[in-house]
Amino acid sequence: MGISNAELPVYRMTIAGQAVDAAKTMPVVNPANGEAFALAPDAGTEELDAAVAAAQAAYPAWRALPSAERRALIVKAAERIEQHAKELGALFTREQGRPFAYAKQEIYGAAYWLRAMAAIEIPVEIAEDSEARRIEVYHEPLGVVCAIVPWNFPVMLAAWKIGPALVAGNTMVLKPSPFTPLCMLRIAELLRDVLPPGVLNVICGGDALGPLMTAHAGFAKISFTGSTATGKRVMEAAARDLKRLTLELGGNDAAIVLPDVDVDAVAEALFFGAFYNSAQVCIATKRLYIHDSIYDAVRDRLHAIAQRARVGDGMDKETQFGPLQNAPQYRRVKQLIEETKAAGHVVLEGAAVPEQGYFLPLTLVDNPPDDARVVVEEAFGPVLPLLRYHSIDEVIARANASEYGLAGAVWSADIGQAIEVAKRLETGTVWINQNLQTTPQAPLAGHKHSGVGVENGLPGLLEFTQPKTLYIPKKAGYKLGF
Ligand code: NAD
Repeated sequence: MGISNAELPVYRMTIAGQAVDAAKTMPVVNPANGEAFALAPDAGTEELDAAVAAAQAAYPAWRALPSAERRALIVKAAERIEQHAKELGALFTREQGRPFAYAKQEIYGAAYWLRAMAAIEIPVEIAEDSEARRIEVYHEPLGVVCAIVPWNFPVMLAAWKIGPALVAGNTMVLKPSPFTPLCMLRIAELLRDVLPPGVLNVICGGDALGPLMTAHAGFAKISFTGSTATGKRVMEAAARDLKRLTLELGGNDAAIVLPDVDVDAVAEALFFGAFYNSAQVCIATKRLYIHDSIYDAVRDRLHAIAQRARVGDGMDKETQFGPLQNAPQYRRVKQLIEETKAAGHVVLEGAAVPEQGYFLPLTLVDNPPDDARVVVEEAFGPVLPLLRYHSIDEVIARANASEYGLAGAVWSADIGQAIEVAKRLETGTVWINQNLQTTPQAPLAGHKHSGVGVENGLPGLLEFTQPKTLYIPKKAGYKLGF
Protein backbone atom coordinates (compact mmCIF):
# COMPACT_ATOMS: atom_id res chain seq x y z
CA MET A 1 0.00 0.00 0.00
CA GLY A 2 1.13 3.56 -0.60
CA ILE A 3 3.13 2.71 -3.78
CA SER A 4 2.47 4.97 -6.70
CA ASN A 5 2.88 4.06 -10.33
CA ALA A 6 2.43 6.82 -12.89
CA GLU A 7 1.56 4.31 -15.63
CA LEU A 8 -1.61 3.04 -14.02
CA PRO A 9 -5.09 4.62 -14.23
CA VAL A 10 -6.11 6.35 -11.01
CA TYR A 11 -9.67 5.95 -9.74
CA ARG A 12 -11.24 8.75 -7.73
CA MET A 13 -13.60 8.96 -4.80
CA THR A 14 -16.98 10.65 -4.75
CA ILE A 15 -17.56 13.20 -1.98
CA ALA A 16 -20.42 15.71 -2.17
CA GLY A 17 -21.02 14.62 -5.76
CA GLN A 18 -17.48 15.61 -6.78
CA ALA A 19 -14.48 13.57 -7.90
CA VAL A 20 -11.91 13.66 -5.10
CA ASP A 21 -8.34 12.36 -4.91
CA ALA A 22 -6.49 11.40 -1.76
CA ALA A 23 -2.95 12.56 -1.02
CA LYS A 24 -1.78 8.95 -1.39
CA THR A 25 -2.79 6.07 -3.64
CA MET A 26 -2.62 2.29 -3.35
CA PRO A 27 -2.32 -0.33 -6.09
CA VAL A 28 -5.19 -2.64 -6.98
CA VAL A 29 -4.07 -6.11 -8.03
CA ASN A 30 -5.65 -8.53 -10.51
CA PRO A 31 -5.70 -11.80 -8.54
CA ALA A 32 -5.57 -13.84 -11.76
CA ASN A 33 -1.98 -12.71 -12.37
CA GLY A 34 -0.88 -10.92 -9.20
CA GLU A 35 -0.20 -7.68 -11.08
CA ALA A 36 -1.32 -4.16 -10.15
CA PHE A 37 -3.52 -2.65 -12.89
CA ALA A 38 -4.95 0.49 -11.28
CA LEU A 39 -4.47 2.87 -8.39
CA ALA A 40 -7.11 3.68 -5.81
CA PRO A 41 -7.11 6.56 -3.33
CA ASP A 42 -5.70 5.85 0.10
CA ALA A 43 -7.85 8.22 2.10
CA GLY A 44 -7.24 9.37 5.67
CA THR A 45 -8.84 11.64 8.24
CA GLU A 46 -9.10 14.67 5.99
CA GLU A 47 -11.06 12.91 3.25
CA LEU A 48 -13.18 11.05 5.80
CA ASP A 49 -14.10 14.32 7.53
CA ALA A 50 -15.04 15.82 4.17
CA ALA A 51 -17.22 12.81 3.31
CA VAL A 52 -19.00 12.84 6.67
CA ALA A 53 -19.55 16.60 6.40
CA ALA A 54 -21.00 16.14 2.90
CA ALA A 55 -23.35 13.40 4.10
CA GLN A 56 -24.42 15.51 7.07
CA ALA A 57 -25.07 18.51 4.82
CA ALA A 58 -27.16 16.40 2.43
CA TYR A 59 -29.17 14.69 5.17
CA PRO A 60 -31.89 17.27 6.00
CA ALA A 61 -33.01 17.72 2.40
CA TRP A 62 -32.78 14.01 1.55
CA ARG A 63 -34.76 13.09 4.64
CA ALA A 64 -37.36 15.76 3.86
CA LEU A 65 -37.92 14.55 0.29
CA PRO A 66 -41.21 12.70 -0.10
CA SER A 67 -40.47 9.00 0.11
CA ALA A 68 -41.76 8.47 -3.46
CA GLU A 69 -39.13 10.89 -4.77
CA ARG A 70 -36.31 9.18 -2.90
CA ARG A 71 -37.48 5.83 -4.22
CA ALA A 72 -37.66 7.15 -7.79
CA LEU A 73 -34.04 8.32 -7.57
CA ILE A 74 -32.94 4.93 -6.24
CA VAL A 75 -34.69 3.23 -9.16
CA LYS A 76 -32.85 5.64 -11.49
CA ALA A 77 -29.59 4.64 -9.79
CA ALA A 78 -30.42 0.99 -10.48
CA GLU A 79 -31.05 1.79 -14.15
CA ARG A 80 -27.73 3.62 -14.45
CA ILE A 81 -25.86 0.67 -12.96
CA GLU A 82 -27.58 -1.76 -15.35
CA GLN A 83 -26.68 0.40 -18.34
CA HIS A 84 -23.03 -0.12 -17.41
CA ALA A 85 -23.27 -3.78 -16.44
CA LYS A 86 -20.84 -5.00 -19.08
CA GLU A 87 -18.15 -2.45 -18.24
CA LEU A 88 -18.64 -2.98 -14.51
CA GLY A 89 -18.65 -6.76 -14.91
CA ALA A 90 -15.27 -6.68 -16.65
CA LEU A 91 -13.85 -4.38 -13.98
CA PHE A 92 -15.30 -6.70 -11.34
CA THR A 93 -13.58 -9.74 -12.82
CA ARG A 94 -10.30 -7.86 -13.01
CA GLU A 95 -10.30 -6.76 -9.39
CA GLN A 96 -12.24 -9.59 -7.74
CA GLY A 97 -11.34 -12.56 -9.93
CA ARG A 98 -14.82 -14.06 -10.39
CA PRO A 99 -15.66 -15.31 -13.91
CA PHE A 100 -17.17 -12.58 -16.06
CA ALA A 101 -20.63 -14.16 -16.46
CA TYR A 102 -21.04 -14.40 -12.69
CA ALA A 103 -19.50 -10.96 -12.20
CA LYS A 104 -22.15 -9.43 -14.46
CA GLN A 105 -24.81 -11.27 -12.45
CA GLU A 106 -23.62 -9.47 -9.36
CA ILE A 107 -23.95 -6.09 -11.10
CA TYR A 108 -27.49 -6.89 -12.26
CA GLY A 109 -28.23 -8.35 -8.84
CA ALA A 110 -27.20 -5.13 -7.12
CA ALA A 111 -29.49 -3.12 -9.40
CA TYR A 112 -32.31 -5.57 -8.76
CA TRP A 113 -31.76 -5.14 -5.02
CA LEU A 114 -31.92 -1.35 -5.18
CA ARG A 115 -35.21 -1.56 -7.09
CA ALA A 116 -36.67 -4.12 -4.73
CA MET A 117 -35.72 -2.06 -1.68
CA ALA A 118 -37.29 1.00 -3.28
CA ALA A 119 -40.52 -1.00 -3.53
CA ILE A 120 -40.75 -1.91 0.15
CA GLU A 121 -43.02 0.49 2.03
CA ILE A 122 -42.05 1.54 5.52
CA PRO A 123 -45.28 1.12 7.45
CA VAL A 124 -46.76 3.41 10.07
CA GLU A 125 -47.78 0.94 12.75
CA ILE A 126 -50.88 1.43 14.84
CA ALA A 127 -50.09 0.17 18.32
CA GLU A 128 -53.52 1.07 19.67
CA ASP A 129 -56.71 2.48 18.19
CA SER A 130 -59.23 2.65 21.05
CA GLU A 131 -62.02 4.98 22.00
CA ALA A 132 -59.62 7.03 24.10
CA ARG A 133 -56.61 7.29 21.84
CA ARG A 134 -54.63 6.27 18.83
CA ILE A 135 -50.93 5.34 19.08
CA GLU A 136 -48.95 5.59 15.87
CA VAL A 137 -45.40 4.31 15.44
CA TYR A 138 -43.30 5.98 12.74
CA HIS A 139 -39.88 4.81 11.56
CA GLU A 140 -37.56 7.75 11.16
CA PRO A 141 -34.13 7.80 9.56
CA LEU A 142 -31.04 7.84 11.76
CA GLY A 143 -28.72 10.29 10.04
CA VAL A 144 -25.40 9.46 8.38
CA VAL A 145 -24.64 5.76 7.94
CA CYS A 146 -21.12 4.33 7.85
CA ALA A 147 -21.11 1.35 5.47
CA ILE A 148 -18.11 -1.00 5.34
CA VAL A 149 -18.04 -3.98 2.97
CA PRO A 150 -15.68 -6.90 2.21
CA TRP A 151 -14.05 -8.11 -1.00
CA ASN A 152 -16.03 -11.25 -1.78
CA PHE A 153 -19.26 -9.56 -3.04
CA PRO A 154 -18.06 -5.96 -3.26
CA VAL A 155 -21.02 -4.57 -5.22
CA MET A 156 -23.95 -6.68 -4.01
CA LEU A 157 -23.15 -6.23 -0.34
CA ALA A 158 -22.81 -2.48 -0.88
CA ALA A 159 -26.24 -2.43 -2.55
CA TRP A 160 -27.68 -4.29 0.45
CA LYS A 161 -26.74 -1.25 2.51
CA ILE A 162 -27.24 1.61 0.04
CA GLY A 163 -30.79 0.56 -0.90
CA PRO A 164 -32.41 0.41 2.54
CA ALA A 165 -30.34 3.21 4.09
CA LEU A 166 -31.26 5.69 1.35
CA VAL A 167 -34.87 4.53 1.03
CA ALA A 168 -35.30 5.20 4.75
CA GLY A 169 -33.96 8.75 4.35
CA ASN A 170 -30.39 8.39 5.62
CA THR A 171 -27.27 9.52 3.82
CA MET A 172 -24.11 7.42 3.62
CA VAL A 173 -20.36 7.19 3.52
CA LEU A 174 -19.39 3.82 2.07
CA LYS A 175 -15.98 2.18 2.17
CA PRO A 176 -15.24 -0.83 -0.03
CA SER A 177 -12.45 -3.25 0.83
CA PRO A 178 -8.96 -2.02 -0.15
CA PHE A 179 -8.66 -5.24 -2.20
CA THR A 180 -11.74 -4.46 -4.34
CA PRO A 181 -12.43 -0.72 -4.35
CA LEU A 182 -12.81 -0.03 -8.07
CA CYS A 183 -16.35 -1.12 -8.91
CA MET A 184 -17.85 0.94 -6.10
CA LEU A 185 -15.67 3.94 -6.95
CA ARG A 186 -16.89 3.68 -10.55
CA ILE A 187 -20.52 3.19 -9.52
CA ALA A 188 -20.37 6.28 -7.30
CA GLU A 189 -18.99 8.19 -10.29
CA LEU A 190 -21.85 6.93 -12.47
CA LEU A 191 -24.38 8.09 -9.86
CA ARG A 192 -22.96 11.61 -9.42
CA ASP A 193 -25.69 13.10 -11.58
CA VAL A 194 -28.41 10.74 -10.33
CA LEU A 195 -28.36 11.21 -6.54
CA PRO A 196 -28.18 14.65 -4.88
CA PRO A 197 -24.60 15.57 -3.89
CA GLY A 198 -23.56 14.10 -0.54
CA VAL A 199 -26.29 11.45 -0.32
CA LEU A 200 -23.88 8.65 -1.26
CA ASN A 201 -20.17 9.28 -0.68
CA VAL A 202 -17.71 6.52 -1.53
CA ILE A 203 -14.23 6.75 -0.09
CA CYS A 204 -11.47 4.19 0.04
CA GLY A 205 -8.23 3.59 1.82
CA GLY A 206 -5.94 1.06 3.44
CA ASP A 207 -6.21 -0.72 6.77
CA ALA A 208 -6.25 2.50 8.80
CA LEU A 209 -9.44 3.88 7.27
CA GLY A 210 -11.99 1.41 8.72
CA PRO A 211 -11.08 2.13 12.36
CA LEU A 212 -11.07 5.89 11.63
CA MET A 213 -14.61 5.52 10.29
CA THR A 214 -16.00 3.46 13.15
CA ALA A 215 -14.53 5.98 15.63
CA HIS A 216 -15.97 9.00 13.82
CA ALA A 217 -18.59 10.79 15.91
CA GLY A 218 -20.43 12.01 12.80
CA PHE A 219 -22.00 8.63 12.10
CA ALA A 220 -25.33 7.61 13.62
CA LYS A 221 -25.03 4.00 12.52
CA ILE A 222 -22.50 1.48 11.30
CA SER A 223 -23.56 -1.21 8.87
CA PHE A 224 -20.66 -3.63 8.58
CA THR A 225 -20.13 -6.82 6.60
CA GLY A 226 -16.89 -8.73 7.11
CA SER A 227 -15.17 -11.18 9.39
CA THR A 228 -16.24 -11.96 12.93
CA ALA A 229 -12.89 -10.80 14.32
CA THR A 230 -13.25 -7.37 12.71
CA GLY A 231 -16.94 -7.22 13.64
CA LYS A 232 -16.03 -7.44 17.31
CA ARG A 233 -13.65 -4.48 16.92
CA VAL A 234 -16.36 -2.53 15.12
CA MET A 235 -18.82 -3.22 17.94
CA GLU A 236 -16.32 -1.96 20.51
CA ALA A 237 -15.76 1.21 18.51
CA ALA A 238 -19.51 1.77 18.07
CA ALA A 239 -20.04 1.67 21.83
CA ARG A 240 -18.22 4.98 22.36
CA ASP A 241 -21.06 6.99 20.77
CA LEU A 242 -23.75 4.32 21.08
CA LYS A 243 -23.85 4.14 17.30
CA ARG A 244 -26.54 1.84 15.98
CA LEU A 245 -25.05 -1.30 14.55
CA THR A 246 -25.71 -4.06 12.06
CA LEU A 247 -23.03 -6.73 11.74
CA GLU A 248 -23.09 -9.40 9.03
CA LEU A 249 -20.13 -11.61 9.87
CA GLY A 250 -18.51 -14.94 9.15
CA GLY A 251 -20.11 -18.35 8.85
CA ASN A 252 -19.13 -21.99 8.94
CA ASP A 253 -22.31 -23.33 7.40
CA ALA A 254 -23.22 -26.98 7.64
CA ALA A 255 -25.13 -28.77 4.90
CA ILE A 256 -26.68 -32.08 5.91
CA VAL A 257 -27.36 -34.72 3.27
CA LEU A 258 -29.97 -37.24 4.39
CA PRO A 259 -29.73 -40.86 3.19
CA ASP A 260 -32.77 -40.64 0.87
CA VAL A 261 -31.32 -38.17 -1.67
CA ASP A 262 -30.73 -39.01 -5.31
CA VAL A 263 -26.95 -38.68 -5.24
CA ASP A 264 -26.57 -38.02 -8.97
CA ALA A 265 -29.28 -35.36 -8.91
CA VAL A 266 -27.82 -33.35 -6.02
CA ALA A 267 -24.06 -33.67 -6.51
CA GLU A 268 -23.58 -30.62 -8.76
CA ALA A 269 -25.70 -28.42 -6.53
CA LEU A 270 -23.83 -29.56 -3.43
CA PHE A 271 -20.56 -28.78 -5.16
CA PHE A 272 -21.52 -25.30 -6.34
CA GLY A 273 -23.05 -24.50 -2.96
CA ALA A 274 -19.58 -24.96 -1.50
CA PHE A 275 -17.26 -23.74 -4.26
CA TYR A 276 -19.12 -20.88 -6.01
CA ASN A 277 -16.87 -17.77 -6.11
CA SER A 278 -14.01 -20.13 -5.23
CA ALA A 279 -15.71 -20.74 -1.88
CA GLN A 280 -15.35 -17.11 -0.80
CA VAL A 281 -18.98 -16.77 0.19
CA CYS A 282 -20.17 -16.10 3.73
CA ILE A 283 -23.16 -18.42 3.24
CA ALA A 284 -21.33 -21.19 1.36
CA THR A 285 -21.45 -24.76 2.60
CA LYS A 286 -18.27 -25.05 4.66
CA ARG A 287 -18.95 -28.40 6.35
CA LEU A 288 -20.73 -31.10 4.36
CA TYR A 289 -22.28 -33.83 6.52
CA ILE A 290 -23.18 -36.92 4.49
CA HIS A 291 -25.02 -39.97 5.80
CA ASP A 292 -22.80 -43.03 6.13
CA SER A 293 -24.94 -45.08 3.68
CA ILE A 294 -24.24 -42.68 0.78
CA TYR A 295 -21.00 -41.08 1.95
CA ASP A 296 -18.68 -42.87 -0.48
CA ALA A 297 -20.97 -42.25 -3.45
CA VAL A 298 -21.33 -38.51 -2.71
CA ARG A 299 -17.60 -38.12 -2.04
CA ASP A 300 -16.68 -39.80 -5.33
CA ARG A 301 -19.16 -37.70 -7.36
CA LEU A 302 -17.85 -34.48 -5.78
CA HIS A 303 -14.27 -35.49 -6.42
CA ALA A 304 -15.09 -36.21 -10.07
CA ILE A 305 -16.69 -32.75 -10.41
CA ALA A 306 -13.62 -31.13 -8.79
CA GLN A 307 -11.36 -32.94 -11.25
CA ARG A 308 -13.36 -31.59 -14.21
CA ALA A 309 -13.72 -28.07 -12.80
CA ARG A 310 -12.17 -25.31 -14.87
CA VAL A 311 -10.23 -22.97 -12.61
CA GLY A 312 -8.55 -19.98 -14.24
CA ASP A 313 -8.68 -16.35 -15.28
CA GLY A 314 -12.26 -15.11 -15.02
CA MET A 315 -12.04 -13.38 -18.41
CA ASP A 316 -11.58 -16.76 -20.10
CA LYS A 317 -15.06 -17.93 -21.20
CA GLU A 318 -14.38 -21.51 -20.11
CA THR A 319 -13.56 -20.58 -16.52
CA GLN A 320 -15.98 -21.69 -13.80
CA PHE A 321 -13.90 -20.77 -10.76
CA GLY A 322 -11.49 -17.86 -10.40
CA PRO A 323 -8.54 -17.27 -8.10
CA LEU A 324 -8.55 -16.49 -4.41
CA GLN A 325 -9.23 -12.78 -4.27
CA ASN A 326 -6.04 -11.57 -2.60
CA ALA A 327 -2.56 -12.66 -1.59
CA PRO A 328 -3.12 -12.87 2.20
CA GLN A 329 -6.25 -14.98 1.73
CA TYR A 330 -4.41 -17.20 -0.78
CA ARG A 331 -1.60 -17.76 1.71
CA ARG A 332 -4.03 -18.47 4.57
CA VAL A 333 -6.01 -21.08 2.65
CA LYS A 334 -2.86 -22.65 1.16
CA GLN A 335 -1.45 -23.03 4.65
CA LEU A 336 -4.69 -24.56 5.90
CA ILE A 337 -4.56 -27.17 3.12
CA GLU A 338 -0.89 -27.91 3.88
CA GLU A 339 -1.64 -28.26 7.60
CA THR A 340 -4.56 -30.56 6.83
CA LYS A 341 -2.27 -32.80 4.75
CA ALA A 342 0.47 -32.69 7.40
CA ALA A 343 -2.05 -33.81 10.04
CA GLY A 344 -2.55 -36.97 7.97
CA HIS A 345 -6.10 -36.23 6.76
CA VAL A 346 -6.95 -37.55 3.31
CA VAL A 347 -7.10 -34.71 0.80
CA LEU A 348 -8.76 -35.14 -2.62
CA GLU A 349 -7.57 -32.51 -5.05
CA GLY A 350 -9.39 -31.12 -8.03
CA ALA A 351 -8.03 -30.20 -11.45
CA ALA A 352 -4.64 -28.53 -11.82
CA VAL A 353 -4.67 -24.73 -11.68
CA PRO A 354 -2.62 -21.99 -13.36
CA GLU A 355 0.74 -21.33 -11.71
CA GLN A 356 0.65 -17.54 -11.91
CA GLY A 357 -1.98 -15.76 -9.80
CA TYR A 358 -3.68 -16.73 -6.56
CA PHE A 359 -5.06 -20.09 -7.66
CA LEU A 360 -5.63 -23.17 -5.54
CA PRO A 361 -7.12 -26.50 -6.64
CA LEU A 362 -10.67 -27.15 -5.45
CA THR A 363 -9.98 -29.48 -2.55
CA LEU A 364 -12.06 -31.99 -0.55
CA VAL A 365 -11.00 -33.42 2.79
CA ASP A 366 -12.20 -36.99 3.36
CA ASN A 367 -13.84 -37.28 6.78
CA PRO A 368 -11.41 -35.38 9.02
CA PRO A 369 -12.11 -35.36 12.78
CA ASP A 370 -14.51 -32.72 14.12
CA ASP A 371 -11.69 -30.88 15.89
CA ALA A 372 -9.54 -30.50 12.75
CA ARG A 373 -8.86 -26.84 11.94
CA VAL A 374 -10.44 -27.29 8.51
CA VAL A 375 -13.73 -28.22 10.24
CA VAL A 376 -13.71 -25.75 13.12
CA GLU A 377 -12.63 -22.61 11.25
CA GLU A 378 -14.21 -20.73 8.38
CA ALA A 379 -11.77 -21.54 5.55
CA PHE A 380 -13.20 -18.93 3.15
CA GLY A 381 -11.42 -20.67 0.31
CA PRO A 382 -11.71 -23.82 -1.81
CA VAL A 383 -11.24 -26.54 0.79
CA LEU A 384 -14.31 -28.45 1.95
CA PRO A 385 -14.41 -31.08 4.71
CA LEU A 386 -16.76 -34.01 4.01
CA LEU A 387 -18.02 -35.49 7.25
CA ARG A 388 -19.59 -38.91 7.74
CA TYR A 389 -22.57 -39.18 10.12
CA HIS A 390 -24.86 -41.97 11.31
CA SER A 391 -27.96 -40.47 12.95
CA ILE A 392 -30.04 -37.28 12.80
CA ASP A 393 -29.53 -36.39 16.46
CA GLU A 394 -25.79 -36.87 16.10
CA VAL A 395 -25.47 -34.74 12.97
CA ILE A 396 -27.60 -31.92 14.35
CA ALA A 397 -25.47 -31.78 17.49
CA ARG A 398 -22.29 -31.71 15.38
CA ALA A 399 -23.65 -29.08 12.99
CA ASN A 400 -24.67 -26.87 15.92
CA ALA A 401 -21.33 -27.27 17.69
CA SER A 402 -19.99 -24.08 16.12
CA GLU A 403 -19.58 -20.53 17.30
CA TYR A 404 -21.10 -19.46 13.98
CA GLY A 405 -24.78 -19.50 13.03
CA LEU A 406 -25.17 -17.84 9.64
CA ALA A 407 -26.93 -20.36 7.36
CA GLY A 408 -27.15 -24.04 6.52
CA ALA A 409 -28.86 -26.52 4.22
CA VAL A 410 -30.71 -29.81 4.44
CA TRP A 411 -30.92 -32.16 1.46
CA SER A 412 -33.63 -34.84 1.40
CA ALA A 413 -36.34 -36.40 -0.77
CA ASP A 414 -38.68 -35.93 2.19
CA ILE A 415 -39.39 -32.19 2.56
CA GLY A 416 -41.29 -32.74 5.82
CA GLN A 417 -38.33 -34.44 7.41
CA ALA A 418 -35.97 -31.80 6.02
CA ILE A 419 -38.09 -29.06 7.63
CA GLU A 420 -37.88 -30.84 10.98
CA VAL A 421 -34.08 -30.96 10.71
CA ALA A 422 -33.96 -27.33 9.52
CA LYS A 423 -35.91 -26.17 12.57
CA ARG A 424 -33.28 -27.68 14.86
CA LEU A 425 -30.31 -25.91 13.23
CA GLU A 426 -29.00 -22.90 15.18
CA THR A 427 -28.64 -20.57 12.20
CA GLY A 428 -30.39 -17.55 10.74
CA THR A 429 -31.23 -19.16 7.39
CA VAL A 430 -31.71 -22.76 6.26
CA TRP A 431 -32.23 -23.88 2.67
CA ILE A 432 -33.94 -27.11 1.75
CA ASN A 433 -32.59 -28.81 -1.37
CA GLN A 434 -30.97 -25.58 -2.50
CA ASN A 435 -28.20 -23.27 -1.52
CA LEU A 436 -26.93 -19.68 -1.55
CA GLN A 437 -30.38 -18.19 -2.13
CA THR A 438 -31.06 -14.69 -0.87
CA THR A 439 -33.81 -12.24 -1.73
CA PRO A 440 -34.45 -8.58 -0.90
CA GLN A 441 -37.77 -9.65 0.61
CA ALA A 442 -36.44 -12.03 3.28
CA PRO A 443 -34.21 -11.24 6.25
CA LEU A 444 -30.69 -12.63 6.48
CA ALA A 445 -29.65 -12.71 10.11
CA GLY A 446 -26.51 -14.15 11.61
CA HIS A 447 -27.06 -16.05 14.86
CA LYS A 448 -24.33 -16.47 17.48
CA HIS A 449 -20.98 -15.03 16.28
CA SER A 450 -22.28 -14.61 12.72
CA GLY A 451 -23.80 -11.25 13.36
CA VAL A 452 -25.92 -8.74 15.16
CA GLY A 453 -29.14 -7.54 13.59
CA VAL A 454 -30.36 -8.34 10.13
CA GLU A 455 -30.14 -7.31 6.49
CA ASN A 456 -32.86 -7.47 3.84
CA GLY A 457 -36.62 -7.68 4.03
CA LEU A 458 -38.63 -5.18 6.01
CA PRO A 459 -36.66 -6.01 9.19
CA GLY A 460 -33.43 -5.14 7.36
CA LEU A 461 -34.90 -1.87 6.10
CA LEU A 462 -36.10 -0.97 9.59
CA GLU A 463 -32.54 -1.35 10.92
CA PHE A 464 -31.82 1.94 9.17
CA THR A 465 -34.57 3.64 11.15
CA GLN A 466 -35.58 4.35 14.72
CA PRO A 467 -39.15 4.12 15.99
CA LYS A 468 -41.01 7.22 17.07
CA THR A 469 -44.27 6.76 18.92
CA LEU A 470 -47.08 9.32 18.87
CA TYR A 471 -49.88 9.25 21.46
CA ILE A 472 -52.90 10.99 19.97
CA PRO A 473 -55.91 11.57 22.29
CA LYS A 474 -59.40 11.05 20.94
CA LYS A 475 -61.19 12.53 23.95
CA ALA A 476 -60.52 15.78 25.71
CA GLY A 477 -58.93 15.68 29.13
CA TYR A 478 -55.84 14.12 30.59
CA LYS A 479 -55.82 10.98 32.67
CA LEU A 480 -52.82 9.06 33.98
CA GLY A 481 -53.40 5.91 32.00
CA PHE A 482 -52.55 2.73 33.91
P1 NAD B 1 -12.58 -8.14 6.99
O1 NAD B 1 -13.32 -8.15 8.28
O2 NAD B 1 -11.13 -8.32 6.99
O3 NAD B 1 -12.84 -6.76 6.23
C1 NAD B 1 -14.14 -6.29 5.95
C2 NAD B 1 -14.09 -4.79 5.77
O4 NAD B 1 -13.74 -4.19 7.02
C3 NAD B 1 -13.06 -4.28 4.77
O5 NAD B 1 -13.60 -3.18 4.09
C4 NAD B 1 -11.90 -3.85 5.67
O6 NAD B 1 -11.10 -2.87 5.09
C5 NAD B 1 -12.64 -3.30 6.87
N1 NAD B 1 -11.90 -3.32 8.13
C6 NAD B 1 -10.82 -4.06 8.45
N2 NAD B 1 -10.46 -3.82 9.74
C7 NAD B 1 -11.34 -2.91 10.23
C8 NAD B 1 -11.52 -2.29 11.49
N3 NAD B 1 -10.72 -2.54 12.53
N4 NAD B 1 -12.53 -1.42 11.64
C9 NAD B 1 -13.38 -1.17 10.63
N5 NAD B 1 -13.27 -1.72 9.40
C10 NAD B 1 -12.25 -2.59 9.20
O7 NAD B 1 -13.32 -9.23 6.10
P2 NAD B 1 -12.94 -9.70 4.63
O8 NAD B 1 -11.74 -10.59 4.72
O9 NAD B 1 -12.91 -8.51 3.72
O10 NAD B 1 -14.24 -10.55 4.25
C11 NAD B 1 -14.37 -11.89 4.52
C12 NAD B 1 -15.26 -12.12 5.73
O11 NAD B 1 -16.52 -11.47 5.57
C13 NAD B 1 -15.60 -13.59 5.95
O12 NAD B 1 -15.52 -13.91 7.32
C14 NAD B 1 -17.03 -13.70 5.46
O13 NAD B 1 -17.75 -14.79 5.99
C15 NAD B 1 -17.58 -12.38 5.88
N6 NAD B 1 -18.78 -12.05 5.12
C16 NAD B 1 -20.00 -12.05 5.74
C17 NAD B 1 -21.16 -11.79 5.03
C18 NAD B 1 -22.52 -11.80 5.69
O14 NAD B 1 -23.47 -11.31 5.09
N7 NAD B 1 -22.66 -12.34 6.87
C19 NAD B 1 -21.07 -11.51 3.67
C20 NAD B 1 -19.82 -11.53 3.07
C21 NAD B 1 -18.68 -11.78 3.79
